[in-house]
Amino acid sequence: MSKDWNTRTKLVHEGIRRSQYGEVSEAIFLTQGFVYDSAEQAEARFIEVGDDEFIYARYGNPTVRMFEERIAALEGAEDAFAAASGMAAVNATVMSLLKSGDHVVSSRALFGSCLYILETILTRYGVEVDFVDGTDLDAWKAALRPDTKAVFFETMSNPTLEVIDIEGVSALAHEVGALVIADNVFATPIFSRALEQGADVVVYSTTKHIDGQGRCLGGVVLGTRDFIRKTLEPYLKHTGGALSPFNAWVMLKGMDTLDLRVRASSDTALKLAQSLEGHGKLSRVIYPHLASHPQFDLAKRQMEGGGTVLSLDIAGGKEAAFRFLNALEICTISNNLGDSKSIVTHPATTTHQRLTPEQRAALGITEGLVRLSVGLEDAGDLLKDVEQALARV
Ligand SMILES: *Cc1c(COP(=O)(O)O)cnc(C)c1O
Repeated sequence: MSKDWNTRTKLVHEGIRRSQYGEVSEAIFLTQGFVYDSAEQAEARFIEVGDDEFIYARYGNPTVRMFEERIAALEGAEDAFAAASGMAAVNATVMSLLKSGDHVVSSRALFGSCLYILETILTRYGVEVDFVDGTDLDAWKAALRPDTKAVFFETMSNPTLEVIDIEGVSALAHEVGALVIADNVFATPIFSRALEQGADVVVYSTTKHIDGQGRCLGGVVLGTRDFIRKTLEPYLKHTGGALSPFNAWVMLKGMDTLDLRVRASSDTALKLAQSLEGHGKLSRVIYPHLASHPQFDLAKRQMEGGGTVLSLDIAGGKEAAFRFLNALEICTISNNLGDSKSIVTHPATTTHQRLTPEQRAALGITEGLVRLSVGLEDAGDLLKDVEQALARV
């Protein structure tokens, strides 16, 4: 399709495959299999699958393909392959690429399940994994080796919103020939251009901003046609992590409004961060586009917006944080993010509960830290809600 479309046009029109009925809205092809006109056609398709041909929904499906083509166009990626969840996407990326004896360097601040895959599963199969402070380029440089096959990082970490220098880390990784894999969930496909900045493979949990309305799990891997078709696809299609056509349709409809939603939530997140900074009940407000963020310059250079998540460190530890959470009236207590509803999480007792106190301290996850994923509510109402809850701490 037209390469000079801008984001909002791509988000609405890219990837559409219309059936003979000429439907306006993308159709849900809720089918596992596909009928062949003849035995000869079936034989031919098993030799080579054409662009608009399908064999079985675990391998591909027209609705899923629409979603893959739309997000590939948005990211400027050669190709994409969808997965049943963000973790199915991360798992398939590393398991399809790596083998026993390979070396991987990863940032330490990772989503819990990503950490499990790298630290527990990969090492069980003889992959050597070194973890570094992802914000420290010297640490990356020291850990990289001539035999390093891949580096892995979350471009913006959860929940302390550290920003990884994509260009810096990618340049170092490419010097030793390592593939750069970036989990780009927190930075969002709207504000981040991770592929342009040097990442080779970008992974999303589409469960977050792309659905954006708290309904379905999904994931996607983006990269070169060679990586997607020759490395990732054979693994993913044979191991069963396919995205359901229904969920792909939800993601397609989510993409229609992705730019509008992410920008609205991010504007509100910045307003909240600015208004709450210096509040007497908070020891710290963390938001990448606040001048007080330790990597403000990098965050401004690398991301067009600061994202939809901010973190608040409530003075008074766990007890104060719990009182704050329980006093909120609009923001709901849950552990998802990127939703139209604002969601608060206490990482130390939920998402990061299984870490030791030392590990949490190393990641900056204090007992008072609260992660706030900003939704689509009115900014003034949200600020009032946070302020009234802080008053009750
Ligand atoms: C949520 C999330 C995942 C996992 O995605 P699922 O869709 O829940 O499997 C991976 N990485 C990051 C950064 C996430 O926020």
